[in-house]
Amino acid sequence: MRITDIEGIMVRLPEVQAIGDGCQSILIIKVHTDEGITGIGEAHTNPLVSKAVLEAPLCSISSTGLKPLLIGEDPRDINRLYDLMLRRTQTYGRRGAVMHVISGIEIALWDILGKALNQPIHRLLGGARRDRVPAYASDLAPETAEGAIALALDHRAAGYKAVKLGWGGLGGNPRKDAAMIGEIRRAVGPDMDIMLDMGFPVALEHAIYLGQALAEHDVYFLEEPLSPDDLSGFARLTAVSPTPIATGEKETSRYPFIDLVERGGLRIIQPDVARVGGIAETLRIASFAEPRGVRVIPHCWSTDILVAATLHVIGLIKDCPYLELNATTNPLRTRLVTSPIRQVDGIVGIPNGPGLGIELDEGTIARYRWSP
Ligand SMILES: [Mg+2]
Repeated sequence: MRITDIEGIMVRLPEVQAIGDGCQSILIIKVHTDEGITGIGEAHTNPLVSKAVLEAPLCSISSTGLKPLLIGEDPRDINRLYDLMLRRTQTYGRRGAVMHVISGIEIALWDILGKALNQPIHRLLGGARRDRVPAYASDLAPETAEGAIALALDHRAAGYKAVKLGWGGLGGNPRKDAAMIGEIRRAVGPDMDIMLDMGFPVALEHAIYLGQALAEHDVYFLEEPLSPDDLSGFARLTAVSPTPIATGEKETSRYPFIDLVERGGLRIIQPDVARVGGIAETLRIASFAEPRGVRVIPHCWSTDILVAATLHVIGLIKDCPYLELNATTNPLRTRLVTSPIRQVDGIVGIPNGPGLGIELDEGTIARYRWSP
């Protein structure tokens, strides 16, 4: 089997806003083969930048676009092609957008292998340890406590047993943020898990205050209160915060996760499968984390391509309490595949069809397809 073409398809909502929603404008990757099988992937990043990474012609032996590199290769050689992509982009790659695109291609290669063997991806990797996983509703934080309470109650009524609010108006005033979480806790009662995602870093003193104040409200984790580069800050925060601290969605490759755990003291890490390097790289991170008692709860806020890839990973890792599920009504999240992935009573099934186990809704793609 040979790769004949790699398509980068940009889709975009008619109005993209400056909010913490990375699912407004995305790059879908289709890897085509000479046997009629097409693999689907997603690079969870800025699509125009990632399309350039995909299509750029050869610049030097260590600086090339990925499509010219992969045409003619056997898509089933996933490990070899992963190493090749890293090696031949090492001058301008290794982190950031190049890794995001490598992730999207890697997901598509697994999809091809699964379709070729008529097996779900998790079975190719030894079989899922579970057939379903609880999902937490992941949503943007409203500006007011009343709005946040209403949203949390809506998600509880929809069946979720856990809710995360993030970005939005958070981060300006730690006392206000902690008070809002206290009001949500009183409204939803003791049985719902609550997470808080700051999105942008706050001052270390602010983060320490939140880590201590949120414990009173039994918060499941406090996400990204500091920059992922601030390892010494994380070390100080994790040493004193009774609320678990989580981070990792902006990191790429396994290497930063070693630092976050060993130097930053993180006990919950959140690699994004469509950014970090793909399915196998996320599993490598999980293999590092598991014997150290560190939990991997993948970041997953994008289309059902990423949700499906993440579910295969969650099926495989030994201990993963939650799928993050974008609970907004964004049509790129809710209508991109023919059988959208939904929660029922707060539970999502691990896909069992060949490959990723999803099919793209070409009507939705045609409607939102974008070229600048
Ligand atoms: Mg986040």
